Order: sequence, then C-alpha cells, then structure tokens
Amino acid sequence: MNKVYNIVPNEEGTERKVVLLTFDDGPKKKEWINSIIDVLDKHHAKAIFFVNGYRVKENPDLLKLIHERGQPIGNHSWDHISLKSEPLAKVTKQIVDVQNIVKEVTGTAPVFFRPPFGEGGEVGRKVAKEHHLLYMTWSNGSLDWTLKSKDKATNPDKVIKNVLDQLHPGANILMHELPWTVEALDTLLTKLEEKGYHFVDPASISVEPAAGG
Ligand SMILES: [Zn+2]
Repeated sequence: MNKVYNIVPNEEGTERKVVLLTFDDGPKKKEWINSIIDVLDKHHAKAIFFVNGYRVKENPDLLKLIHERGQPIGNHSWDHISLKSEPLAKVTKQIVDVQNIVKEVTGTAPVFFRPPFGEGGEVGRKVAKEHHLLYMTWSNGSLDWTLKSKDKATNPDKVIKNVLDQLHPGANILMHELPWTVEALDTLLTKLEEKGYHFVDPASISVEPAAGG
C-alpha cells in the first residue's frame, strides 16, 4: 500500500490492475452479510470488513459469521467517532478494545485499521502502528453512505457509477454494509472484471511499512 492508500505491487511484474474491496460500519445484519459474502465467493474475492466494537458487542455472532466465511476483519474503532482531536488514552481505548473483542470472538486480532471519517490524526496513526495495525483510509469512495432510502430504486446504479468514475489501478474501494450496496455488488464486481481488474487478497498486503516509506 502506498501513501495515498492505493494498493501497489510489492514485486516487479505483479498485476497492477487490482482493487481492494472494503465494507465499513458493520456488522449489522445477517442477511446483508451473507449476501455480500455470497457475491464475493462467486467472484473469488475477499474484502476487509471494518467493524465497530459497539456493533460487535451487540452482535458477536455476526462477526463470527464473517470470520467463519473466510473474510478478513479490520478495526474501525469502538464507537465510530472522529479520533483526530482526541487524547492518546481515548484513542488507544477506541482501538485496543476492538482488537480485544475481535480476538475474543474469532481468535484472531485485526491487522488493518481504518479511522472513522478517515480522521485518525497523528495519534491514531501512532496507536495503530504500536499495535501493528496497517493504517488506511481509502482512495475510491462509493459514496454509498450519502444515498437515501427514499431513492432505493436508483441507488445501486449510483454506487456502481461512483466506483467506476473513480476507478484506477490499486483503488482502495470504500463501501458500507448498506442495502443498495449489497444489491449493486454482483454487477459492480462483474464490471470490474470486464475492465480487467482483479481483487486483491488482503492477506497479501504487507502490514509492516516498506523501507523508507
Ligand atoms: Zn465508518
């Protein structure tokens, strides 16, 4: 991953036309999670599910479901708050408590951290690093979070258009556990494949920062 959170090859000759898929703000609903993962499986893709601690606490079974269906889990803070102006102790708790609950429920602690609103601040970066988490925001926003329920008929097409409009090799695509994104996903992934894109396996991303970077 580079400084603007794009995915770039570690080795010469590796495929450059790749995207990273991510789903934030869950786990929310069994039906949506299963539907997302059904589509990911169909396209042989993995995505990072960036979860909030308070939602995991409400629904540990949903976290287990994501994990058992083979999808990686990322840390998205406990309360989904902006961390950029918060003191060290609070930021640490927001991050560490999620590490702990995810480890408790799945047996594995996350290796990726994404601050809510992309606002981790210097403190968020520091705490993430101390806990061996790779800090990332995104480079391609689906804008699915700006869409309204009243427009649900046209929202899936908007999600697809927003992603394709911002598409570039290495795109780090931000999506959410939202009904229109769930609905758009199969068509979106098909279109990405038609354009020659492959889906990055998050397990292949170097978590330790590259030398000099
Ligand atoms: Zn979020």
